[in-house]
Amino acid sequence: MTPVTCFEGKHAAVFGLGGSGFVTAQALVAGGARVSVWDDNEHAREKARAAGLRIENLATADWRNFDALVLSPGVPLTHPAPHWTVLKARQAGVEIIGDIELFCRERQKIAPASPFVAITGTNGKSTTTALAAHLFRNFGFAVEVGGNIGTPVLALAPPAQERVHVVECSSFQIDLAPSLNPSAGVLLNVTPDHLDRHGTMENYAAIKARLVAKADLAVIGIDDDISRAIADEAIKAGKPTIRVSVTTTAVEDEAIVLDGPRLLRLVSGRATPVADLSGIASLRGKHNGQNAAAAVAALGPLGLDLERVAKGLRSFPGLPHRLEEVGRKGKVLFVNDSKATNADAAEKALLSFDRVFWIIGGRAKEGGIEPLRPLFGKVVKAYLIGEASELFARTIGNAFPYESCGSLESAVPAAARDAEASGLAEPVVLLSPACASFDQFPDFEKRGDRFRELVKALLADKDVS
Ligand code: ADP
Repeated sequence: MTPVTCFEGKHAAVFGLGGSGFVTAQALVAGGARVSVWDDNEHAREKARAAGLRIENLATADWRNFDALVLSPGVPLTHPAPHWTVLKARQAGVEIIGDIELFCRERQKIAPASPFVAITGTNGKSTTTALAAHLFRNFGFAVEVGGNIGTPVLALAPPAQERVHVVECSSFQIDLAPSLNPSAGVLLNVTPDHLDRHGTMENYAAIKARLVAKADLAVIGIDDDISRAIADEAIKAGKPTIRVSVTTTAVEDEAIVLDGPRLLRLVSGRATPVADLSGIASLRGKHNGQNAAAAVAALGPLGLDLERVAKGLRSFPGLPHRLEEVGRKGKVLFVNDSKATNADAAEKALLSFDRVFWIIGGRAKEGGIEPLRPLFGKVVKAYLIGEASELFARTIGNAFPYESCGSLESAVPAAARDAEASGLAEPVVLLSPACASFDQFPDFEKRGDRFRELVKALLADKDVS
């Protein structure tokens, strides 16, 4: 844990006692702050009470006593409407911050020069975070990984010179971290998302831009208009910046770009090969090229040790549920991409393979799989599951054969049977559902876990239905 000593003697109100709120309150207490916690959920309050935290009803509290409101990132700050605690804090002139802000202030106080990589983007955050951490570990650093990817940032060991913190930041977390000043700030891409919580695209983009604004080194993907503009701004302001592109090699330096399967570093118009990504299963697809380029750029000068970089990339195990290879039967490869809960993500999966036996469905998102029509030629056959089956069947029409399977339990053996019988050189049974999982599973992880289990059973010739 990182005790928040910069709040010693101050009084913080903490609202939202999910994973990060709970730890944040404990870290504040450990640092010597007075802390009042509250959550609308009685069960969460009970848990906090049992852990010795001071419960205070923030609805009736005297807000003049508080120095800060520490808010969970899941609680609306601005849109669709500010949460009631936000209104109360504003009325009393109390600052509103999140756990990453507390981490940044503590780092500023105890180890301002410690390595701190912060990573954001609409897509690819977790992969890039995990990969950057893996690369730093390969260089022999002690690495702490957290933030939006899982472990709350204040549950990590405190910042220190010999320790690298690699922290994934959602836009909500950035919005609550006004002094975010990583040693390397990585912005992968910005495409429309979460507009219900940020109001407008301009607002969303401005929040994402804040992650690199105060970074010592900015690493910015330039393959979408918004990120490119943010990179131009950073360079104009004189900030050391490494641009990242997987769509063009005609980039002004300094940049890391993808040229076919190879990452190149561009400096003063000269290209130096960094690494070859071909054959690295955990980094399949152009989108992962962007993630890899950004992670390498975040290494800063360490990235010049090409041998170690290449070794690190090759040994990256990847994250579960994202194009995860879960097994092979004969020539058939089974891939779990359960994280693909929308068409955008499923598109990345289809782009990564040639001949696909595609398991899709669940709770459909707006637009369904219509945006994937240009990639329908890659699909040999589809296996429909969950609520979206009828809708998807209508979209597919005669484009390729499909079978309504209802459940994963039926879809996996059906797809495996057809893939095996296809005689194709590299058939892929791909779970990339383009849907939320909630109609049949608690979350996408459980859906992916079940897929993995069914594939493993199939490979072992066991019945787990
Ligand atoms: P995040 O943490 O931002 O949700 P992940 O690394 O968990 O991102 O990847 C989630 C999904 O997003 C992947 O399964 C893939 O479909 C897609 N994806 C990953 N990286 C990128 C990228 N750089 N650009 C676009 N899409 C990506």
